[in-house]
Amino acid sequence: MEKYDIAILGGGPGGYVSAIKAAQMGAKVLLVERERLGGLCLNWGCIPTKTLLISARHYRDLLRSNDFGISGVDLSNARVDWKLLMERKSKVVDKLVSGIELLVKKNKITFINGEGMVLDNHSMEINGEKISFENLIIATGALSNVPEIPGLSKSMEDGHALDSRGILSLQEMPEAVTILGGNVYAVEFATIFNAIGTKVTLIHKNKSILPGADHELSQLLERQLKKDGVKILGESDISRVEGPKVTVNRKDREETIVGDKLIVFMGIQPNLKGLEALDLKMNERGFIKTDPKLRTSIDNIYAVGDVNGTLPLAHVASAEGIVAAETIMGVESRMNYNIIPRVVYSFPELASVGITEEEAKDKGLDYSVGKFPLMANGMAIAEGETNGFVKIISDNKYGEVIGVHMAAATASDMISKAAAVMQLEGTVYDIAKTIHPHPTFAEALMEAAFAVIDKPIHV
Ligand SMILES: Cc1cc2nc3c(=O)[nH]c(=O)nc-3n(C[C@H](O)[C@H](O)[C@H](O)COP(=O)(O)OP(=O)(O)OC[C@H]3O[C@@H](n4cnc5c(N)ncnc54)[C@H](O)[C@@H]3O)c2cc1C
Repeated sequence: MEKYDIAILGGGPGGYVSAIKAAQMGAKVLLVERERLGGLCLNWGCIPTKTLLISARHYRDLLRSNDFGISGVDLSNARVDWKLLMERKSKVVDKLVSGIELLVKKNKITFINGEGMVLDNHSMEINGEKISFENLIIATGALSNVPEIPGLSKSMEDGHALDSRGILSLQEMPEAVTILGGNVYAVEFATIFNAIGTKVTLIHKNKSILPGADHELSQLLERQLKKDGVKILGESDISRVEGPKVTVNRKDREETIVGDKLIVFMGIQPNLKGLEALDLKMNERGFIKTDPKLRTSIDNIYAVGDVNGTLPLAHVASAEGIVAAETIMGVESRMNYNIIPRVVYSFPELASVGITEEEAKDKGLDYSVGKFPLMANGMAIAEGETNGFVKIISDNKYGEVIGVHMAAATASDMISKAAAVMQLEGTVYDIAKTIHPHPTFAEALMEAAFAVIDKPIHV
């Protein structure tokens, strides 16, 4: 029986990154994946959705070519070709998946394509072959949650209701979709479909979309989505589903929404198949309980990524994978969950890191807030992307940055700067003193820092 220092179950961003890190540190590593390397993120999540979103953005910009001083574009026949879009998506995904296959080979990781079944704390079976391991990293991810709404499971079985896999396998572009859920993925798909010309209705149960996000950000986006034509039904209780038809109770009235397809983003559940033999402790939400070093309740077993449910994001899975590999290899390492950047990919993008203003208030912190609107940013005006702002929250003792929230076309890139400052325990003075190139969206971050200290220059 082949013996490995570390066996890793699941080849998503949690699994393959921990495999590479462990191999780089000299471990003998086995990586097991039953489908394709890259997991949900590369195959059915982050990357394919962003490919669609980018096409949607090009299409949106094409439709407003006049605004950019371009005339003569015949828009009468312009439309998004779903088939071409899907072909492009597959090319992008394939390229990235083969890149990871190469990395796995280059780092001399043993890769087995098959379903892993853990036998006990030190062995596993894959495709009928038994292997043993010193340490195990569980990186099996999560599955979409299908709540017990009458008719919903049947609608999913019959192909009327879809999760991201279903949407990304569609042969034709739907004319009208109904999205169940108000989280980041719901909003992302609402943005994509609305921009490419599909009629979108989004149904969710809270007062506003994106619960838990900075309130100003979620409000700004909700207003923009509505302005762009998305029908948003908040505070709605879904009472039943029939095929693609949804009936909701809203403000004591019953309403039925009919579209071609139903898109379901109502939470996730951990993927625990193949782990039944392990006596793992679960947390109160039913995910594998881990500590900041990603240790589970079993000494030699670690769990990273969506399966531990801490923050189901690809970059968190990868960061956790690195911490788990380092911990196994004897290097002091732990997660700091307080400074994880979060992005909503929409028009405009929303991005946050650290504490929200609402949380700072609830905790009774002594803090200040500085804000700068993109209306006053040169690059935003040139780009025709002025809806947005940058907001910095800092503590009043040292001026340390404790939260940054922004809505901007380039927020997903800009937020890394804020995260880097927070990683260094930097202050608003550090950001204000940093000379930013002009013109850039990022100047709004510097101006928001000036706003905390005293006043921004350009408003
Ligand atoms: C529509 C959508 C968009 C998203 N966009 C983003 C985004 O923009 N940014 C972001 O950070 N996150 C995004 N996410 C979330 C992101 O995809 C996940 O957080 C991330 O994939 C989690 O990584 P993971 O390694 O934990 O699990 P996964 O990526 O789910 O990988 C788990 C892998 O384990 C394999 N596996 C499971 N059990 C076994 C077994 N017994 N044997 C062998 N293999 C097994 C599975 O086949 C799978 O490939 C998105 C998700 C969705 C649904």
